[in-house]
Amino acid sequence: MPELPEVETTRQGLAPHCIGRRVSEVAVHNARLRWPVPESLADTLTGRLIQRIDRRGKYLLLYCEHEANGHVGVLMVHLGMSGSLRLVEPGTDRKTHDHLVFSLSDREDDLDAEPQWELRYHDPRRFGCCLWLELPVEQHPLLVSLGPEPLSEAFDDQHLFRLSRGKSAPIKSFLMDSHVVVGVGNIYANEALFRVGIHPLREAGGISQARYKALSAAVREILAQAIERGGTTLRDFVNGKGEPGYFQQELSVYGRAGEPCVRCNKPLTEVRLSARSTVFCARCQR
Ligand SMILES: [Zn+2]
Repeated sequence: MPELPEVETTRQGLAPHCIGRRVSEVAVHNARLRWPVPESLADTLTGRLIQRIDRRGKYLLLYCEHEANGHVGVLMVHLGMSGSLRLVEPGTDRKTHDHLVFSLSDREDDLDAEPQWELRYHDPRRFGCCLWLELPVEQHPLLVSLGPEPLSEAFDDQHLFRLSRGKSAPIKSFLMDSHVVVGVGNIYANEALFRVGIHPLREAGGISQARYKALSAAVREILAQAIERGGTTLRDFVNGKGEPGYFQQELSVYGRAGEPCVRCNKPLTEVRLSARSTVFCARCQR
């Protein structure tokens, strides 16, 4: 499943190839994603210039300007469980689950110029979405209640401490709650808690501010590191070869149940929490 680092890597990979280009054609081959692709999307988007690509949580936000009237709207893309965005050369065989194809023209003004790239949305399980948003996007129901970005200054010990008071939820569930902070997926929650020695089932409301300080720093470091590693796979987004964006990471606990703890050698324990694999060291994490 694409996590925040994969989405950020996608954003960084696409931006230099998409910004300043015009959408010359939109082909919707399957509109039945998690939410239906709006019927008017092709009409709305065709001819618009891609101004910039932002990210909010795991949503990619492509700001697109209408040439004639200057109106700016946003194509919001979520990769769901199995989605990806690839840039390929026009004429490349369309794969079975390439549901949307955006033809991007040259940076010249000529809309009839041959498209230089095709941006393809691929999603076998169709849990993702491609929606059209009006500004300001922050007010959209899917975005309005999201917590701060984990790499922003708003995500710190004070924020976590304040929000956690009175909460009996396990710290791991608290950390993965997008109202608390966006984009901390299962892998990263497992890894961050191990790094700071906090037991994943400990009550969020009983954790000290000092421990939250260490935890927020660990989340930041782990995510930043993963995004940096993703940089080496950026070419996958432009040549369409191979599977995009899922990079190998050095993991201390996730996927290592029963194997020895890298610190104390005791076999790691696994429990299910909200149906998600939760791996920890019962000796190092308290
Ligand atoms: Zn240990």
